[in-house]
Amino acid sequence: MRALICGAGIAGLAMAQRLTAHGWEVTVVERKPRPREQGYMLDFFGLGYDAAEAMGLLPQLHKLAYPIEEVTYVDASGRPRARIDYVRGARLAGGRLLTLMRPDLERVLREQIAPGAKLRYGCTVASLELLPDSVHVVLTDSTAMEVDLLVGADGIHSTIRQMVFGDEAQFLRYLGIHTAAYIFDDPLIRRRIGDRYALTDTVDRGMGFYGLRDGRVAAFAVHRDPVAAVPADTRAAVQRSYSSLDWVVPHALESCPPPRDLYYDLVAQVEVPRWHRGRVVLLGDSCQAVSLLAGQGASLAVAGAYVLGEQLMAAGLVEDALIRYEQAWKPVVQATQEAGRRSAQWFLPSSRSRLWLRRAALTLAALPGWDTIISAGLVGKTPQSLTDLGASGPRAVPPT
Ligand SMILES: Cc1cc2nc3c(=O)[nH]c(=O)nc-3n(C[C@H](O)[C@H](O)[C@H](O)COP(=O)(O)OP(=O)(O)OC[C@H]3O[C@@H](n4cnc5c(N)ncnc54)[C@H](O)[C@@H]3O)c2cc1C
Repeated sequence: MRALICGAGIAGLAMAQRLTAHGWEVTVVERKPRPREQGYMLDFFGLGYDAAEAMGLLPQLHKLAYPIEEVTYVDASGRPRARIDYVRGARLAGGRLLTLMRPDLERVLREQIAPGAKLRYGCTVASLELLPDSVHVVLTDSTAMEVDLLVGADGIHSTIRQMVFGDEAQFLRYLGIHTAAYIFDDPLIRRRIGDRYALTDTVDRGMGFYGLRDGRVAAFAVHRDPVAAVPADTRAAVQRSYSSLDWVVPHALESCPPPRDLYYDLVAQVEVPRWHRGRVVLLGDSCQAVSLLAGQGASLAVAGAYVLGEQLMAAGLVEDALIRYEQAWKPVVQATQEAGRRSAQWFLPSSRSRLWLRRAALTLAALPGWDTIISAGLVGKTPQSLTDLGASGPRAVPPT
């Protein structure tokens, strides 16, 4: 069986790993010229962690995980105002929580794809035609191919979704927030942050910082904006939007890179009525973006790929597998999206009173018993295991 995967992000690479592990002939096309080096810190847990375990990825992921002990909200002079105890959070997740940089997660997934798979950077799908039992695709370098399955794993602004299901506007639910992330070098800021993940304790906009292994600093920014469009000059937009913040922010803004090295996007969720048509299927953010507010998009991208892979192996017909994947997986995504929307006010308070409420809630969450209730409310109710979704769970597949 032959598959073409469009997008070498977390979902696409995880899918390539699954399909090659099951003997499929796989080509991955990625429009970026090379693997992305820019990125941001991800919490990785839940069903994604279970899927990574079943895929044999945990030893490598644990090696690359950052040992974050606490998230600290700081005031204008850097004094802590509220805290989230990460060690305790990890304990609540049964120790099954990793904090990873996105490029590190992608590297591990890429390295686990069986030899023989073709990863083609700087290339994408130029056109496609749905045939009764296959898809005819022409790539931007004029290569023509016929595949048994085309996977659209090309992210929140998916081109495959656009080609097969229509305009993005009908699927994107904008959550009223813009986000940016970049990596920069500043030894002074690095020292002031230490080993914390430090965030400004501010209304309507905030920046967060954490130190990387190589001595650089990763910055993350979110601000409320009613305009659902990415500005033309994203560097200028970052410098303008966060100029009112104090602490290390003014220096960090001076180090904001030009747009080509800066991640900038709208915070949005994706809701697509159907995830597959013929032999084309959507995967990851292209059909199930839960947004950074839910803090689970990467975990769900890996788990979704795992579930789809298992369904493809179990079903006699590709079409049946696509139906079962969507039936099993969509309710998990919808529950997580709801939880993500609920957490918006916690994540980025829109008024001083809500900021105070967040501080109070975090103090409460530090008390035994309340931490479980609050984290369950924020994370949302998801199935306990991959087996509930018709996929074999961790340890069913020995690590490679
Ligand atoms: C600031 C921030 C913080 C986050 N924090 C967390 C967190 O703590 N935990 C968590 O689990 N998730 C988190 N997420 C969400 C997570 O990053 C995403 O859900 C995840 O990256 C989705 O993976 P994906 O592979 O579906 O899409 P993407 O990561 O967007 O990958 C899509 C890939 O497709 C490529 N592509 C796009 N268009 C084309 C095309 N036409 N042709 C070929 N290739 C194409 C892109 O270049 C990219 O490589 C966060 C997101 C942000 C922005």
